[in-house]
Amino acid sequence: MTAPLGNSMFDRVALIGIGLIGSSLARVLRRDSPGTAIVACARRAETLDAVRRLGIADQTTDDPAAAVAGADLVVIATPLSAYGEVGRRIAPALKPGAIVTDVGSVKEAAIRALAPLLLPAGVQFVPGHPVAGTEHSGPQAGFAELFRDRWCILTPTPETLPEAVAKVTALWEQAGMRVTVMAADHHDKVLAMTSHLPHLIAYTIVSTATDLEDDLKSEVIAFSAGGFRDFTRIAASDPVMWRDIFLANREAVLEMLQRFTEDLTALQRAIRWGEADTLEERFTRTRAIRRSIIEAKQA
Ligand code: NAP
Repeated sequence: MTAPLGNSMFDRVALIGIGLIGSSLARVLRRDSPGTAIVACARRAETLDAVRRLGIADQTTDDPAAAVAGADLVVIATPLSAYGEVGRRIAPALKPGAIVTDVGSVKEAAIRALAPLLLPAGVQFVPGHPVAGTEHSGPQAGFAELFRDRWCILTPTPETLPEAVAKVTALWEQAGMRVTVMAADHHDKVLAMTSHLPHLIAYTIVSTATDLEDDLKSEVIAFSAGGFRDFTRIAASDPVMWRDIFLANREAVLEMLQRFTEDLTALQRAIRWGEADTLEERFTRTRAIRRSIIEAKQA
């Protein structure tokens, strides 16, 4: 189902944080909903200058409270560590009945930071996570097609009205996403495995390689197409964003890391003892997972 966004749905949208995700959404709104006024908020003048140059907002400000004044929809798209401050600053300025959503990669922490501030403000809070991204950051890195054919996970709280969930669903469907609803703690476990742990592994491999002696290091770079290159792309992701994700999703990440460590030890043992069948059986299973991801069009 793709609901038309149109002007009737949101007259005024405030994007608090206008980096990769916020600016990609601004481009979708520009493309599909030209009547919607877009207000962009960030801290730094250079970010707001870039937004003006790109022409992806009608108004820019470094004041979150001014940004949300009169907005029907507020999208929080800052790093997770800014949520508390953003929530405190916008809460008194929100229009009653407005919808507030976010795009943060960890949902229990997002709800903990925002719900107590937003609920008394008489607004609808629809926590969300568009599972789409690249290793680039900032408003210049965004593009409208970022979300196409990816999943968006919404994790409404018991207080969230179904009408608000339906409107945010329509927004992400407009961006080309498939939308699903999940409990926040379940979301955090799933993403710990599918996104957070792979990033941790990539950061580790790349830093292990960086610590190698100089002669070996230059060859690691020269012959990186052997697999290392893919890890370097993931490990080039924004340091602040990922610092926040690991701290915010600590429990789930540590649980998945424990399981991973046990599996790694089992493989280490198979290699040591020359257990060819164990290795082949394990690699055959993982190859099948890659095929199912391709079939699900998530490759
Ligand atoms: P980004 O490109 O680094 O953009 C972050 C934006 O937030 C920038 O415009 C930054 O501008 C602004 N900002 C930071 N602190 C702020 C504050 N206190 N008040 C107002 N604006 C502030 O990051 P991103 O990749 O779009 O990620 C944003 C959120 O999306 C994160 O919560 C992340 O978990 C989530 N997410 C990311 C991805 C991904 O792959 N990148 C995917 C899905 C979800 P200034 O520095 O000028 O303030």
